[in-house]
Order: sequence, then structure tokens, then C-alpha cells
Amino acid sequence: MSLRLYSTLGRETREFTTVAPGEARMYVCGVTPYDVTHLGHAFSYVQFDTLRRYLSSIGYRVRYVQNVTDIDDDMIMVSRRQGGRPIPEIRDENDRIFRNDLDRLNVLRPNAYPFATEHIPEIIEHTAKLIECGHAYVVDGDVFFEARTFERYGQLNGVTLEELEQRENPESKRAEKKRGKLDFLLWQIVDAGDPSWPSPWGPGRPGWSIECTAMSVAHLGPRIDIHGGGSDLRFPHHENEIAQAECSTGDAPFSGFWMHNGMLKLEGVKMSKSLGNLVLARNLMQEFEPDQLRLYLLSHHYRADADYYHGDLEQLGERYGRLKLASSQGEGAAAAAGGGHALVVEFRETIDDDFDAPGAIDVLDGAASRLLAGAGSDGEGEALRECLAVLGFAFAGAKGPASGYLGSTL
Ligand SMILES: [Zn+2]
Repeated sequence: MSLRLYSTLGRETREFTTVAPGEARMYVCGVTPYDVTHLGHAFSYVQFDTLRRYLSSIGYRVRYVQNVTDIDDDMIMVSRRQGGRPIPEIRDENDRIFRNDLDRLNVLRPNAYPFATEHIPEIIEHTAKLIECGHAYVVDGDVFFEARTFERYGQLNGVTLEELEQRENPESKRAEKKRGKLDFLLWQIVDAGDPSWPSPWGPGRPGWSIECTAMSVAHLGPRIDIHGGGSDLRFPHHENEIAQAECSTGDAPFSGFWMHNGMLKLEGVKMSKSLGNLVLARNLMQEFEPDQLRLYLLSHHYRADADYYHGDLEQLGERYGRLKLASSQGEGAAAAAGGGHALVVEFRETIDDDFDAPGAIDVLDGAASRLLAGAGSDGEGEALRECLAVLGFAFAGAKGPASGYLGSTL
């Protein structure tokens, strides 16, 4: 069996294929570094890091791009609240903490890590193109994409425009200027004192979604293979990204697969700063080894919503100890010694079913139990170690920031 992935667009699981043979282009929506990141962010980035590692292990050359949204309403709000503190300072401070958390979790650094503010010329170029093609219109310095001009608008969410119009929409800003309720800003005029850039429509700043389109196209070309992000980004952000990219480049589909990770809640409640219930990866890593947290995060299927309960990591302690100890039995073996082992075959067959990491971990745990009972087959220790390394565990020798390897560049 080969890798099959579920795509939100079309709501079907199908064989993974790529635009260019042997090369997988991945774009994953990054953070807006206006505040701390929580365990839900770690969940998303560990899942996509592991998928990236798995694709590499089965022979793909992976190009992984993750952006930083360093100009938007939230960044501006925090800057104002902090007495006009420069946005790059806020960005760099939060981004450093975020990246340090991910480094400790052995998440490979992206091949490109673009900042939106470094892509203003591309954003202006796409916006101008969309106006030229009749998909966007200008109203007193604001530029809107007209959703109704893109016939596939709504397809990602599988609903009609009328149904989308009923949904809560953070793109409701400047509603009085729009032709249609679902229209969204590509470029916007700013309040006095806020950061702005010159443009053909006057000084302003980008809308939210055009940033990701511009960065994805700039770094990976008009068509990518996997677009990832949280399920909360399906609408309007990802619906907008498709409309912008396909109308601007004329190429379709913008992404072959749309993969959305589930939301991680705390004991049934959405984590939010205002509720004061944020669980932070770095706090958990004071008490537990980063690999144990990684195991916890991968024990949930990427697509499922999950609930974190205090005590969950303790409960995983036995399994974690077993995997770690059993994998040490395969230490020192030549790389890929376990390549054709039945365990590797079973591991791959399991994970190939829509990236079933939790299922694959169950398979590996079974092997660990056998090995520790002295009942492992020939080469099973090496095979176990190899599979755990594919899942990114530093204790099994996975290369990554935890051992000083930051990843390649494009
Ligand atoms: Zn995005």
C-alpha cells in the first residue's frame, strides 16, 4: 500500500501524488507572534514535522515552508497596548520563545521561514493582478476580493455561498464598503501611526490571507502538494487563499491536498488567554522530557480534536519508558539496518492510512514489549529504532534541533 491522505477539499482519502515526481512541497500556516503559543500550536507543528519526516523517509525530497504573520490586527493591537512598541521587537521576542519550544521538541526548522513584511512587493503584485483580472475592486484605498467571481469559493468547506454567509467571519471589517458579504480585504488603509507601505492604492498594509498566498507562491511556486494548518483556518483563511492563488496565477489546484489538524482543548474547554487556561509546551517540558511530550502529541490522530487532561503525560510514562529502553537495544546498528524488517513494513502500512501516527505508535509499542520480554525477532531492535527516528524522537537518534541539526535550506 502507498501513502493515502485525506484532503479537506473533496473530503476524500486518496493516494498521495505530487506535482513534481519525487518532490513534496508543503506549506503550513505559521503563527502570528503577538503573544505566547500554547500546546495546540505544538500539536500542529509536531504533526506536520512528523509528516515531513515520514515523506523524507519514503524517498521524497521535501520542501517545507512555514510563515510568520508579522503584520495584522493582533500585532498592531499589542504594539499599541505596549505603548507603541515596535512590531519587529514583539515579533522577535515571541518568535524566539516559540522556536525554542519547537527546537526542544525536535521539530525540524522549515526550509524557508518567511515573514509577511518581507513579501510586501509580491502581495502588491498579486493584488494588482486580481484587480486586473476582475476579481478585486478598490474602494477609497481599500482593495477587496469579490468572492462571487471565483466559482469554486466555498468548495473547500463543501458549502454554498449562502451557507458561508451565515458563518462567523473575521473578515467582516469594512462591511459597508463591500459588494458582497464574503468579500475580503487584500489591501487596507491604516489608522494614523500604524505601520504602512506605499502601494498603487495609497499607503496601507496587506489583508490577512493574501500574505500566505504570496509567501507560498514565492517560495514553492503556483502549485503545492500539501497545505496544512489548523481546522479553524478552513474558513475564511484557506478558502481565501485558494481563491487568491488560483485567480492570480491561473494555475489549479493551488494545493493537491488540504490537511487540517484538529483543535486541542484543555479538559473540554478551548484554550485561550482570556480564560487563563493556556497549557504551555515549555512548562510541560520542565517536568517531562521533550520526547515524552512529542509522544503525547503524536498519540492523537492529527485530524481529530483532542482534549488535554492534567495527568495525561504521567499516564504515558510507562509506554514512553518502554519505547525508549527497547529502542536502545537497536542502538549502534548500521543506519537502515532494519529497512526490510516486518516491523518496518507494518509501521508503514499503518501510517500510510491517512498518516495514522497513533496507530503506528501502537505497532511500535507492541514490538517494544516483545523486545523487553526477550521475544523480539532478529533485527527488531534496529527496526524499532529506525521507525521511532522517522517519528522524530531524539532518543532514537532522529536528526533535529534537539541534537543541533537545524535542517536544510531550500
Ligand atoms: Zn495562512
